[in-house]
Amino acid sequence: MSTTKELWVFAEQREGKLAGVVRELLSEGQILAEKAGFTLAAVLPSADGAAFCQELYNFGAKKVYTIDDPKLADYQNDYYARAVAQLINEKRPEIVLYGATTIGRSLAPTVAVMVDAGLTADCTQLDFDVEAGNLLQTRPAFGGNIMATIICPNHRPQMATVRSNVFKKTKLSDNESGEQVPYSVDLSGVPERMRRLESVHEADSTIDLNAAQFIVSGGRGVGKPENFKIIYDLASELGAAVGASRATVDAGWISHHHQVGQTGKTVCPVVYVACGISGAIQHLAGMQSSDVIVAVNKDPNAPIFDVADFGLIGDLHQIVPEFQKQIAAAKA
Ligand SMILES: Cc1cc2nc3c(=O)[nH]c(=O)nc-3n(C[C@H](O)[C@H](O)[C@H](O)COP(=O)(O)OP(=O)(O)OC[C@H]3O[C@@H](n4cnc5c(N)ncnc54)[C@H](O)[C@@H]3O)c2cc1C
Repeated sequence: MSTTKELWVFAEQREGKLAGVVRELLSEGQILAEKAGFTLAAVLPSADGAAFCQELYNFGAKKVYTIDDPKLADYQNDYYARAVAQLINEKRPEIVLYGATTIGRSLAPTVAVMVDAGLTADCTQLDFDVEAGNLLQTRPAFGGNIMATIICPNHRPQMATVRSNVFKKTKLSDNESGEQVPYSVDLSGVPERMRRLESVHEADSTIDLNAAQFIVSGGRGVGKPENFKIIYDLASELGAAVGASRATVDAGWISHHHQVGQTGKTVCPVVYVACGISGAIQHLAGMQSSDVIVAVNKDPNAPIFDVADFGLIGDLHQIVPEFQKQIAAAKA
């Protein structure tokens, strides 16, 4: 249990860009580190870490552990796990946070096994118990019906993956300073069980729900797959991404990439327009931190209205096209 009083954020990068969730975790990390009296640091495996340091300092990292190696240019689970686990075993930080991205969800459990630590997956809230020294890791449990707060009192580091878009990004300035700490790791003995042959980008570039400022989502109230056209039309008018409830995804009306909620994406746009979505707790878990929520539903008692800032009671087949027309007219 002897540790360094540091809180680390895994600085996930892909093709020269930091994942958005890294900025969110550093922003939340600033608050937690201050409360706990820890130093906030980032751990960055890549081919050339120096290129990312300034951005990490700007979001609050006081230290950046850069692990540079050509084998770490792109994510490869065995290499990354060896690099991060070796650094953890040497420095013994108190806390390590990862984004609950595809990469984070693969790396964090592997590292947890290698450093003999626990891991709480898919957290939606974090806090720190100063007296006990425990990270309070909150996540939905039992189908989203309760929020469970999990602690890890007997092992260090305390580790969690955290969903994208649950914390706001807080940039301190454009010229914060910090310390780059280069760390070298010998990857020669790591068996190459996987090799990256090619990187293929998703064909539908309109989907990017995670980064969207505006989202228009359709639920079972849309009625049938063809009717999603009015959702796409409104989204196009607003420059918005298209989201969906699980009911429509399960029915095969739209692909899973669009699903918002506990088993879909967590989103945090400026405006979220929910059309024909009842507002089940599992859907709300993925969108209720949106800045402004607009709900269109014919049932005045639909639970979506409990979280909506603006509610339109009526038939979405009339309201949504009218909405689109009004926006087009306002833009003209
Ligand atoms: C473990 C688990 C995980 C889950 N994960 C997710 C998840 O990630 N995301 C998710 O969305 N769900 C999830 N669900 C499912 C969730 O519980 C709900 O079943 C689902 O969200 C309902 O989708 P819906 O609101 O589209 O459909 P419904 O609940 O059927 O609601 C349809 C709504 O449309 C309204 N409506 C109907 N016709 C019209 C009309 N013409 N005009 C206006 N309004 C109309 C109705 O009044 C109703 O409120 C999960 C469930 C479980 C158990």
